[in-house]
Amino acid sequence: MGIKIRELKVEPFNLALKEPFIIATGRKDAANNVLVRIILEDGTVGYGEVAPSPYTTGDTQQTCLAVLDHIRWAVEGQDIAKWRSLLSKTRKLIRSNVGAHSGLELAVLDALTKTMGIPLYEFFGGAITSVETDLTLSLGTPDETFNAARKAVDQGFKLIKVKVGQGVSVDAERILRVREAGPDCEISLDANQAYSPKDAVELVRRVNADGVEIGLLEQPVRRDDIEGLKYVREHCPVAVAADESCFTPEDAIRLIRADAVDVINIKLAKCGIVGAMDIAGICRSANKGLMIGCMMESKIGLAASAHFACGSGDFLHHDLDSIYLLRPFDCKGGFKLDGPRFSVDGIEKGTDLEFNP
Ligand SMILES: [Mg+2]
Repeated sequence: MGIKIRELKVEPFNLALKEPFIIATGRKDAANNVLVRIILEDGTVGYGEVAPSPYTTGDTQQTCLAVLDHIRWAVEGQDIAKWRSLLSKTRKLIRSNVGAHSGLELAVLDALTKTMGIPLYEFFGGAITSVETDLTLSLGTPDETFNAARKAVDQGFKLIKVKVGQGVSVDAERILRVREAGPDCEISLDANQAYSPKDAVELVRRVNADGVEIGLLEQPVRRDDIEGLKYVREHCPVAVAADESCFTPEDAIRLIRADAVDVINIKLAKCGIVGAMDIAGICRSANKGLMIGCMMESKIGLAASAHFACGSGDFLHHDLDSIYLLRPFDCKGGFKLDGPRFSVDGIEKGTDLEFNP
C-alpha cells in the first residue's frame, strides 16, 4: 500500500523565450505551458509540465488545463504505488490529448520515486548519469544561420540540428554556412514535414556533393507519408528519423514494418512516459535507433526526459535544448547543466525538483 494522492494541481505556466523560435510549421514567441503538481497525503510534491504544441499534438494551454481538470476525479484519492493502473485508467478517459496526459505522468512518477527514495533515472534503469544534447537552429537567412551556428560552437555544442524547410537552394546554402561556422561539428536536419520526398533527397545530395555529411534527417515529409519517408531513406545516404509520424507504439510498429525509418524521435509530450517506454522497447527489438526530443519545456519537463534517457541509456541522439531557448528562472533540482551536457549525478529522490511559482 502506497501513499494516496491528495491533490492534482494544474495551472498556466507562461515562460519567456530569449528570442523567437521559427520552424517550418510556425513561429513561437513565448512558451505557454502548464505546470502540473501531484501532492500526496504526506506532503510530497511531484512535478510535471506540459509544453503544448498545437500543430504537433493538437494541445493548447487551455485544452491541457481542461483535460487535466476533466480527469482529476480519477486521480485524487488514488494510491501512488498503483501508478500503472492509475495512468492506464486516466489515459482511457481521453482520446487525443496526449500532451496533457504526459504532464500527469511526469508528476505521478516524480512523486512516486520521491516516496521510494530513489532518483527517477534509477527507476528507469540507472544506466548512465549524463547525456549530451544538440542545439537547434531556427529557420532564417544564411547569415542568421551562420551567426547562430558560430554562437553554438563557441558555447561548446558539438552537434547542431538545423531546422530546414525554406527550399533546397536556401537550405543548402544555410547548411554550408553551418559547416563553415563549425568545421568539426556534426550536423543533423529537421524539416518538420516541409519537404517532398524528392526535394529532401535533392537537398541531402546537394550538400553531400559540397562535402557536407548529414548525420540524421528528421521528418523530411508529411506525417502521414510513410512511403515518402521510405523513399528518402532509400535514395540518399542519411539516417531518417520519424518525429511527427510517431506518437504511439502502434505508429512505431507501422513505421518499422514499412521499413520507413532508421530512428524514432520520442518526446514525452507526444506519448507520455508509458508510451515512451513501449516505443523504446519496440525500437530496441527492431534494432532501430532512438532519439529523445522536446517541445518548449522548461527545466521541469526536461528533467523527466533527461532522467528517462539516462535511466535507459539507449538513446543515440539527444535533442533536449529548449532550456537554452527559454529565459532562466529559479527552480531547484532536476539535473545539472554543463554546456551541452545534462547530468543527473547526485540527484537523490525523484527529480529533486523544487519549485514554487
Ligand atoms: Mg522534430
